[in-house]
Amino acid sequence: MKINYGNTVPISTVDWHGKVSIVFFLRGCPYRCPYCQNHALLFEKNMVDVSVLEEEIKSSRPFVSSVVLSGGEPLMQKGAVVHLAGFAKKNGMLVGIHTCGHYPGVIEELIDADLVDKFFIDVKAPLDNSRMYSKAIGCQDFSDVHVDPKISMEKVSRSISIVLGSRVELELRTTLIRDLIGSDDDVRLIARSIYDLTGRRDIPYALQQGSTADAMLGSLRKIRPLSRDELVDLASVACEFLDNVYVRTREKGNEKINFESI
Ligand code: SF4
Repeated sequence: MKINYGNTVPISTVDWHGKVSIVFFLRGCPYRCPYCQNHALLFEKNMVDVSVLEEEIKSSRPFVSSVVLSGGEPLMQKGAVVHLAGFAKKNGMLVGIHTCGHYPGVIEELIDADLVDKFFIDVKAPLDNSRMYSKAIGCQDFSDVHVDPKISMEKVSRSISIVLGSRVELELRTTLIRDLIGSDDDVRLIARSIYDLTGRRDIPYALQQGSTADAMLGSLRKIRPLSRDELVDLASVACEFLDNVYVRTREKGNEKINFESI
């Protein structure tokens, strides 16, 4: 079997907090988020035999406990993901998947086959605002986004509901970029839409410090990333609707925000 493969990080502690993982970045994505840092993975193909990745898993095995499939959007390659997740499981490893949430059917199949331990699903904008979702996934800036933002929001919502209806762990996360998706109102609308969809305050939700230096949309590259303090302020807004809120920054890594102690 061939995989449209990007690259590997053999040992990572930041792609699944609390675990040491080998991370595979797969190519292709239906979205064109203007801030995307991995845009080199979106356009060209690089077909590699799956045995190459299996060997990498085997050689990382003494040092890592988990395999993370990221991208790009890994769930575009269902066969490859099923194969790699099954291989990881046979080798006694946990499996985590980073996804934009656009493939709920694949998520359901992976859960039914007991192949995944944790999904990390992007909530790129409020799940009930197609104008903002459209902006966040690049429909307004790139002509090669062939998805309807309304349908994307429905798919992401369904993906979240499927994972919550299973025993698989879930983290939701939003990458925040000043002047794109990064204001108090933006975060309030996103957190409220998560609560409205799920009816739960306890879902882990991470606000990620987006980097703009290598953004896909050139006009974003000069925008100053949000600081850790600004993200903490935004976390206080998310906490109006959600209780397990994290901020993730280059300066301080992954922090659970507890406003009672600040
Ligand atoms: S940031 Fe957006 S465009 Fe880039 S890989 Fe993720 S979902 Fe795709």
